[in-house]
Amino acid sequence: MGLYKEIMEAAEIVRKDDNLDLYKKLLDLSSQALDMQEEISRLREDNRELKKKKDISEKIVRHKLPYVTLEDDSDDLYYCSHCWDSEQILIQLNCANNGCFNCPHCHARGVYDAEKFYDA
Ligand SMILES: [Zn+2]
Repeated sequence: MGLYKEIMEAAEIVRKDDNLDLYKKLLDLSSQALDMQEEISRLREDNRELKKKKDISEKIVRHKLPYVTLEDDSDDLYYCSHCWDSEQILIQLNCANNGCFNCPHCHARGVYDAEKFYDA
């Protein structure tokens, strides 16, 4: 809030000096300063999200079957490749014992383990 506060302090000095035009201009500038601060906050949040997606993207491991996993994932979780490719979101697949999966988000279905699927 530094810029906004500084402008408002300058506006108060000008108001006491009865310079109405300059006072109005400073009020307008203070409004623009608030808009800029909101935009900076929004851009910082966007940047944080992009960095997060980039970090995840670098850990994505592709497979011949339609799912993705994460490098160094000690839990060996399976994620929907369709959701990742279309929306860059990780949706954990519901994996059945017969080797099939379904995605709770896009409802894609497929096989995550061919051996289990053919043995079933
Ligand atoms: Zn999906």
